[in-house]
Amino acid sequence: MARTIALENVRNIGIMAHIDAGKTTTSERILFYSGENHKIGEVHDGAATMDFMAQEQERGITIMSAATCVNWKGYRISLIDTPGHVDFTAEVERSLRVLDGAIALFCAVGGVQPQSEQVWRQSEKYNVPKIAMVNKMDRVGADFFAVVEDIRKILGGNPVPMVYPMGAAESFDGVIDLLRMKAIKFDMKTLGKVAIEEEIPEQYMEACKEWRQKMVETAAEQDDELLDKFFAGEELTIEEIKRGLRKGCIARKIVPTYCGTAFKDKGIQPMLDGVIDYLPSPLDIGDTVSADDETKVRKPDDKEPFCGLAFKIVTDKHMGKLTYVRVYSGVLKLGEPIYNSTMKQETRPNRIFRMHADKQEALEEAYAGDIVACVGLTKTRTGDTLCDPKNPITLESIEFPDPVISVSIRPNSRGDNEKLGNALYDLAQEDPTFQVKYDSETNETVISGMGELHLEIIVDRLKREFNVECTVSPPEVAYRETIRQKVEGEYKHVKQTGGRGQYAHVCLRLEPQEPGKGFEFVNEIKGGVIPGEYIPAVEKGINKALEAGAYAGYPVVDVKVTLYYGSYHEVDSNEFAFIECARQCFKQLFLKGAPQLLEPVMNVEVAVPPDQMGAATGTLSQRRGRVEGMEDKGGSKLVKGFAPLGEMFGYSNTIRTLTQGRGTYTMTFERYEPVPASLTEKIVEKRKKEGKVR
Ligand code: GDP
Repeated sequence: MARTIALENVRNIGIMAHIDAGKTTTSERILFYSGENHKIGEVHDGAATMDFMAQEQERGITIMSAATCVNWKGYRISLIDTPGHVDFTAEVERSLRVLDGAIALFCAVGGVQPQSEQVWRQSEKYNVPKIAMVNKMDRVGADFFAVVEDIRKILGGNPVPMVYPMGAAESFDGVIDLLRMKAIKFDMKTLGKVAIEEEIPEQYMEACKEWRQKMVETAAEQDDELLDKFFAGEELTIEEIKRGLRKGCIARKIVPTYCGTAFKDKGIQPMLDGVIDYLPSPLDIGDTVSADDETKVRKPDDKEPFCGLAFKIVTDKHMGKLTYVRVYSGVLKLGEPIYNSTMKQETRPNRIFRMHADKQEALEEAYAGDIVACVGLTKTRTGDTLCDPKNPITLESIEFPDPVISVSIRPNSRGDNEKLGNALYDLAQEDPTFQVKYDSETNETVISGMGELHLEIIVDRLKREFNVECTVSPPEVAYRETIRQKVEGEYKHVKQTGGRGQYAHVCLRLEPQEPGKGFEFVNEIKGGVIPGEYIPAVEKGINKALEAGAYAGYPVVDVKVTLYYGSYHEVDSNEFAFIECARQCFKQLFLKGAPQLLEPVMNVEVAVPPDQMGAATGTLSQRRGRVEGMEDKGGSKLVKGFAPLGEMFGYSNTIRTLTQGRGTYTMTFERYEPVPASLTEKIVEKRKKEGKVR
């Protein structure tokens, strides 16, 4: 076996877009024009190929990333699916980690919407070079150059129009390729698959010359050699212009910008040319660096030791657990052992697939730059590094925020308990931002996620994919507990009830940690006053106490615990006694350390018609929110601020009513903050009544 496509001809990309901008339709057209998909499936027909899951089609949104491969003019493009909804920002971040470039898709009428802004910022954080596509040019009110201006003003990008639209809305007829100065139309008898080249109609000539000139200038600015030539008054060749623009795009200084209509089959092919002309190959991205040692690097080269990142896990009905892996260096071989350096264990792929829209291609080897799905990596989790066992390396993992919202869930038929448990286990494996907890005392299963929609979709999947119908409680905020003061003290666990007794004794110190720092355990036992074999039991006991805090039964965060003294008994001490002793000791001390409830505070952006701005601001202040700023956006006003999640349930209705359906908002988790004292009392009391504080 050998590599069939040179590394410089590989493009690993994603399409980032606001929901409804046309990502699914555009992906569909890419598959169709590149010849991988013979029938165009319309979103509203519910036959879209990229949307694997039925409810995605119904809702018209794409949630899970999958990597689909197409060939375009001798290049291999892997299309990594990125979700459009903000409830799934963790999914967006995950896909941004493994792609090399992106198409930022916009609606020609809506322009830059709040969510596109958010995803754009995320992509900047991960240094992802982008081209832009202004879709829906066939819609009334479509305005290509207005969106180009939006990209410049709102997103701070430097868009370079690569095409000029011929007409707009109903008269939109194709695009003019400004590089080659040709008009391109699309043959509707072939559903737009065949592009027809014509001379530029006279009425567009003037404007096109102007825009081409700007493009050439921008290209020249990216490269000294080209700039010299440009200033010498020499004409740059097409290849030279491309070279300059490519350099600028990869350095994230410019954004080559296209337009078209996916739905009416126009303008997609020039955008695909843009992907191969301007977005980076894995070679352009360069070395992959170890997370803990900057000097340890892997070149994007098949000859290097293998390293890759598991970025997505999907449970497939037929194939079982599929682990999507981005290979950064070396060769991943079927059946050969690899090392999961995050989990510190060996594993091996039993099968390796390249996923196409309509088939899975079985591979024996995957090369640097490839994105493949593996079967057999059973213990591997999202974000784990896989590498050559002889040359271990650990890459930076993918960070996922903690879930902020919970519902309790029970199956409608009693016999389905076990089925529900298994299904939830599978779903939690796929999605690191989804958590499941079973409380044996209240016999209650609680699921937590990133937002109301996130959990709704999980419940929907339970029904469709796993055949378990469930009833869920209204959503609840996932509060946290911490302490504000340092405390220390001891606890003795002594039992003498006939037979063998139990004895354990620990002294713990609890200290508040900086927000977000999490839990830390320090062992300061000296002279073996507690034998080393019992230390893990102490930590285990504390971990148990962290799961449900002593204050209101919520998880405990940001506490440092030091075990500094204790004692044991030759006969009566055992693991269990130390677990129980540490747990009780922690609980008692925790209540003395000025416990504090924390609540998730959300970043909220509300877009409303200008005359509703005051009212929109009011909705936030009524919800204990803070308004941080206001901006003009298109024809509307954008109110930006923060509000506690607990006050935001049902907010979509409020905004809809207030604006007669014209307002929209987005909400993402920002950070945990202390709950005001008066509210804390109510919550604690309620939790005690419900038997959640034990
Ligand atoms: P996604 O949410 O970004 O995946 O968007 P979809 O591809 O599902 O498209 C959302 C809606 O916009 C669907 O009803 C599409 O048929 C429609 N749509 C997509 N592209 C275009 C376009 O170019 N023009 C028009 N008029 N509608 C489009």
